[in-house]
Amino acid sequence: MNHSSDQLPSYRLYINGEWIDACDGAMMPVNEPALGQPMAYVARGSAADIDRAVAAARNAFDAGPWPHTPPHERARILHALADGIEARTAEFAEVEARNLGVPIRKSSFVDLPWAVEHLRVFAELARRDAYEPLPWNDLPGLSWNFVWREPIGVCGQIIPWNYPLLMAAWKIAPALATGNVIVLKPASYTPLTALLLAEVIHDSGLLPRGVFNLVTGPGAEVGEALAAHPGVDKIAFTGSTQVGRRIMELASATIKGVTLELGGKSPSIVLPDADLDLATDGVLFGVFFNGGQSCEAGTRCLVPEKLHDAFLARLVARTEVMRLGDPLDFETDQGPLVSHRQLQSVEEYVALGLREGAKLAIGGHRATVPGFEHGPFFEPTIFTGVRNDMRLAQEEIFGPVLSVVPYRDVGEAIKIANQTMYGLGAAVWSRDIPAAIEVARRIRAGTVWINDHHIILPSAPFGGFKQSGIGREHGLQGMLAYTEAKHIHVDLMQKREGRLHWDVMLPQAE
Ligand code: NAP
Ligand code: MG
Repeated sequence: MNHSSDQLPSYRLYINGEWIDACDGAMMPVNEPALGQPMAYVARGSAADIDRAVAAARNAFDAGPWPHTPPHERARILHALADGIEARTAEFAEVEARNLGVPIRKSSFVDLPWAVEHLRVFAELARRDAYEPLPWNDLPGLSWNFVWREPIGVCGQIIPWNYPLLMAAWKIAPALATGNVIVLKPASYTPLTALLLAEVIHDSGLLPRGVFNLVTGPGAEVGEALAAHPGVDKIAFTGSTQVGRRIMELASATIKGVTLELGGKSPSIVLPDADLDLATDGVLFGVFFNGGQSCEAGTRCLVPEKLHDAFLARLVARTEVMRLGDPLDFETDQGPLVSHRQLQSVEEYVALGLREGAKLAIGGHRATVPGFEHGPFFEPTIFTGVRNDMRLAQEEIFGPVLSVVPYRDVGEAIKIANQTMYGLGAAVWSRDIPAAIEVARRIRAGTVWINDHHIILPSAPFGGFKQSGIGREHGLQGMLAYTEAKHIHVDLMQKREGRLHWDVMLPQAE
């Protein structure tokens, strides 16, 4: 980090173990949404910088020790990086709160510990022998067969703005645990905690040069160059479904592996026997956490017709007490949205919902917070009278907007829940656990929470059905997604006789 002429911190690109300027020296501002003004500058990388980063990564993979470093050594390094973040927790939490606008209560108690935990879980997974048994084989002759797992190579990782540090941790932990090398591209709104992570990596001195590289810059330029680059072996992307489609297209030219974690329109299904006190706060936590800017937010609340009015009244009463305010105030429940562009998009969806015939039960407008008049604040908003075929109920809004949709019976609830192009998450609220599990099994989504929301464990697979993505992150599956499987076959006969498969073309010697 340097200080620019107006005394704001400025960050360069991190390539081949060094902090360097973009090829053309360009910089771009990074905003602090609550204040509506820049809080830092970062290098504005370009395709030429991706070339440099991929070359460094390629060299680290093809000629360096990293892919052959023993798993216990990689585990030690991941723990050391986790320690490095922990030692700077307060700083990371403050930067995350200022740059994204989320309350510091949330960045301190969710983003930081969970990012650290993620690195630690993958450190442990790195140590674990991913043993894949093969059946005994003596056809056509006696042999020993085993599966060798090795790193894929250069991994391009493109992350969104909604959980900046957590997304960086989710991406780098499994890649490093398995011996891959990385070019990370953070979102342009929120690159700062990923840059702090790069500082931690640099200061640790533990990773060989070129194993971890970070390039900031516009997605349309830097992200596209990374996804298309012939020197990149795998792309891992989290963000919108629209950009996800583009990533697949770009990756197809060189048949890169892709994992995509995309959008959602996840249902929160309140079953008729639910504990309504629990479900009220749970549904609100499901949708409004992180200002509604979560891919697996529970944006559609499905309620039995008979409970609709009473449950809506509870939701409204609890929403009324939420405090919008300064992200750095520990009393704040909801900060500003990430940007004015996002605010405008949320406003457009609210106007659209009203045109489609839905009604506002609470919220629906910009909010002004004294002292933060330039911040893109939006009231927590609940729509009622929503039909599931409205665009309001079908499209990802990415702001604090809940749609309440009534249903007649559980069969209809499941049908509505699945009537979406997405399939990322779902919540089921019920006292009857076997009944809730039955519903969970019929929901076409990658994660279903029973009586909770947003619990994404580093040890459990996470990802989307349908257009919410491809592949899984986290746990053993997430780790294997960073490996190539190699079958090694060892002949145990060691003699010419008995090789019937050779005899089909070569007569045995007399
Ligand atoms: P996005 O456009 O999908 O951006 C995600 C990441 O991809 C960012 O790093 C972005 O870089 C990069 N990118 C953008 N265009 C690219 C391209 N053509 N090729 C390669 N990389 C590219 O998401 P967004 O613009 O931040 O948000 C738009 C909408 O996406 C939101 O309103 C929300 O609905 C959805 N979203 C979903 C998630 C999720 O987790 N599912 C997360 C964020 C947003 P730049 O930041 O430089 O543009
Ligand atoms: Mg975009």
